[in-house]
Amino acid sequence: MNRMQFLRGKFNSETAFRPPWAVSEIDFVDMCDRCGQCIRSCHLKLIKSGTAGFPEIDFSNGGCDFCQACVQNCPTDALHLTKSNVHQPWHLTAELKNNCLSEQGVVCRACGDICEMRAIQFKLAVGGVTLVEMNTDECNGCGECVSVCPVQAIEIKHVINNDQLERK
Ligand code: SF4
Ligand code: SF4
Ligand code: SF4
Repeated sequence: MNRMQFLRGKFNSETAFRPPWAVSEIDFVDMCDRCGQCIRSCHLKLIKSGTAGFPEIDFSNGGCDFCQACVQNCPTDALHLTKSNVHQPWHLTAELKNNCLSEQGVVCRACGDICEMRAIQFKLAVGGVTLVEMNTDECNGCGECVSVCPVQAIEIKHVINNDQLERK
């Protein structure tokens, strides 16, 4: 599949998670050579070859520690780190689904324990249940909480889609 076919079809570009510090989706598809350097440089093996060979983040085995290896090894600037965006690697956040064990009276704090941003808080409620509160303002979308949840009750979502980012 070439770039034009990809852009016409768009396939899963709305939902694909690009590596951190990716430029807007339309620029990304234009600039990324699908060389696989970012994939090989990720020590956590989070980056996979996705639709049409473009790199995508897969949070199913862990979260990103923002080590910057992928962006530093990108030869085309499709991953682009500057002083102004260093603290905004992407526009992703964690979202709680409705099957959390804690909210059904089972003791579980796995997600809160792993969250370095302390974006996940637990509040006791009536009936022996504990409500989980996700503070999306604190969440940096690292995805660490996704794979530790025993029932896949957390998913990562785009806060804004890469399509909506300004072009370079
Ligand atoms: S910043 Fe580091 S851990 Fe995150 S995707 Fe890039 S290489 Fe992997
Ligand atoms: S994705 Fe958000 S809530 Fe989950 S561990 Fe990372 S910062 Fe915490
Ligand atoms: S790890 Fe999953 S089941 Fe456990 S408290 Fe967090 S969201 Fe709920």
